Amino acid sequence: MSDKTDQPAVSTKAIREIRINPVVPSEAVLVATARSMRPKKEEPPAPHDTRAHVDTCPFCSGNEEKTPSPLARIPEQGEWKLRIVENLYPVLGDDRENPHFAFGLQQTIDGYGRHEVVIDHASHGIRLHEMTEEHLSLLLSTYRTRMDELYHSNSRLKYVLVFKNFGPAAGASISHTHSQIIAMPVVPGNVQAEVRNSSAYFQANHRCIFCCLIDEALTFEATLYDRGSGEIRRKISVGQFVIERSKRFVAIKPFASRYEWEVHILPLEHASDFLDTPPEDLVDLAGILKRAMARLNAVLGGVQYNFFIHSLPHAAEYADSAPAFHWHIEICPRTSIPTGFELGSGLFVNTICPEDAAEKLRKVSLAE
Ligand SMILES: [Zn+2]
Ligand SMILES: [Zn+2]
Ligand SMILES: [Zn+2]
Repeated sequence: MSDKTDQPAVSTKAIREIRINPVVPSEAVLVATARSMRPKKEEPPAPHDTRAHVDTCPFCSGNEEKTPSPLARIPEQGEWKLRIVENLYPVLGDDRENPHFAFGLQQTIDGYGRHEVVIDHASHGIRLHEMTEEHLSLLLSTYRTRMDELYHSNSRLKYVLVFKNFGPAAGASISHTHSQIIAMPVVPGNVQAEVRNSSAYFQANHRCIFCCLIDEALTFEATLYDRGSGEIRRKISVGQFVIERSKRFVAIKPFASRYEWEVHILPLEHASDFLDTPPEDLVDLAGILKRAMARLNAVLGGVQYNFFIHSLPHAAEYADSAPAFHWHIEICPRTSIPTGFELGSGLFVNTICPEDAAEKLRKVSLAE
């Protein structure tokens, strides 16, 4: 449509295309940006609870007796900054040991596991981007320490998932800021798929696919022309998918983003296991996480989201995948409600072109 070469690499016309996730090709996203073809209902931003203290909140300071006694309290003396408590309604429990069961096509693995809550901050309504970098790096190192302890607590645990739900649309049932840790006897299917596919890529290409994606995002430039008419079909510019880059990490908008404002954060140097992250890198990660959340908040005016850490599982059969798999954080803001089409087809629908979303996020000017 536009033939101006000085135009930014932002699509000026509506696009409708199915994008294949390069890491997990069985996962596809329909990017459909025209208003008229929007098949989704928008999720209105939820009013944010800005209160610092709520008398009835079990996670607020002064109400510690409303939660089970803490598994960790940081610092141990004085006013706490973070607490880890048992989830009162665990999705997996460790109370009994049931033998695995198999009868014909009915197979079960016992529901052994742990489900814990990390009370991220003493201040009730504080949002991630409002926390200090120092506090965020304390939170990240708390995740790391607890994940490590859980992996060592029982060899039946194959995966420890750290995640956060923020806002009712993201499934948070308590408005006090918190994250969750679930240690489970199976490796989640999406992590398995990422490990399996990145291992296959490594076998064929002797490189980590995530490292290749980072290289492409930071260096790749191309113009694709239509062979017949000579018209430009697509322009790919350097940094088009990059939201920001720190010394050790990069925040990118995936080419096949499932969610309109999805952002992934990856270490720039290859690393398969989040638990190997040195403390100075966690400080750097805290900074880029804070800025990514601030950008999302600025663009969305209050963001409800899930984030989770995908790291190499500690089960023995995954050890060989260390050169192939690259740990990362996926941040998935919830701005629309999944429809029957998405649930029934497994095809995610994204109504904002990821390149445009990346540009919008990149352009936010952050104070400091
Ligand atoms: Zn509270
Ligand atoms: Zn890598
Ligand atoms: Zn992942």
